[in-house]
Amino acid sequence: MSQRKRTEIAELGEFGLIDTLTRNATTANKRTIRGVGDDAAVVAAGRDDAMLISTDTLLEGIDFDLTYFPLKHLGYKAVTVGVSDILAMNALPEQIMISIGVSAKLPVEALQDLYEGIDFACRELGVDLVGGDTTASMTGLVINITTIGRAKRKAISYRSGAQFNDLICLTGNLGSAYMGLQLLEREKRVLKDVENPEPQFGGYEYLLQRYLKPRARKDIVEALAEEKIVPTSMIDISDGLASEVLQICKASKCGARIYLDRIPIAKQTSALAEEMHVDPVVAALNGGSDYELLFTVPLAMQEVMRLGMVDIIGHITRETTGAYMVTPDGNDIRLRAQGFKE
Ligand code: ADP
Ligand code: MG
Repeated sequence: MSQRKRTEIAELGEFGLIDTLTRNATTANKRTIRGVGDDAAVVAAGRDDAMLISTDTLLEGIDFDLTYFPLKHLGYKAVTVGVSDILAMNALPEQIMISIGVSAKLPVEALQDLYEGIDFACRELGVDLVGGDTTASMTGLVINITTIGRAKRKAISYRSGAQFNDLICLTGNLGSAYMGLQLLEREKRVLKDVENPEPQFGGYEYLLQRYLKPRARKDIVEALAEEKIVPTSMIDISDGLASEVLQICKASKCGARIYLDRIPIAKQTSALAEEMHVDPVVAALNGGSDYELLFTVPLAMQEVMRLGMVDIIGHITRETTGAYMVTPDGNDIRLRAQGFKE
């Protein structure tokens, strides 16, 4: 009898693994408009409307470190992570469900802090916490967030809609959350054996805030609606710009050119990157956890700049051309995505 072949997960990477596992996931219900493959699933709700659903899991030791992550902030961030995927479809979030796996090492008060952050984010975003689940965990804190949103079907932006010559737009700045994480990790290393640790964050508070308490860009989706702009494609930056551009290219069957000198990088990001001997561009391209929005609009829609919080960082090319970034001195470098998140 032949033995079943053993494939290491690392051989496939995160996206290869998802593709392999969901290869046979067909959609038979007529109300399922979009299944696996975008930031959220899309389900018809009435003639013109749709409901959007997404889920995200945060694991202690993988996605966060409780030695420096205040639980109130973690609750806030969990909501941002969940809501961001709904916003990335150009839809507005309405409800969330939170499931937690709790280890006995956490007192009730710590979990109350977590929920204080969750409640605060919900109020800020106009989202209702409508349910969840609570279990015990042997491996540290587990948080799962399911988010439900709503949109007019015609207003939904999929990853697959980018067209030749479209402008590639980006909100906010990149790499700051990654540098915030590097700073926290550095202070953790330095203060490992110190009795009363006093971490040095002087001058870099913005970076900490970007990593510990990132804001979901609901303002952008509202501003787009006000200007009656429906992006041809959209995705949120959870894994880093390079990975997200490649996702749009794959789904839309197109190429892209990103101009490196147009990628917005905050002053504190460059300053800490220099201090820590990290390339700020690498932080921006591969850092992740920014929860900014990347979207495309037709070339004629330069007025997207009027939104005031958006930069045009490149444009869509033909699939055969591939996805490249252009350095300030005019060299083309092929875009590559990193593997697993953080
Ligand atoms: P995001 O970073 O936007 O949260 P992911 O990269 O986690 O998206 O997932 C990409 C797509 O694959 C999404 O449509 C998601 O619903 C789907 N997906 C991820 N993991 C699984 C899984 N284990 N089973 C089914 N679908 C999955
Ligand atoms: Mg996403």
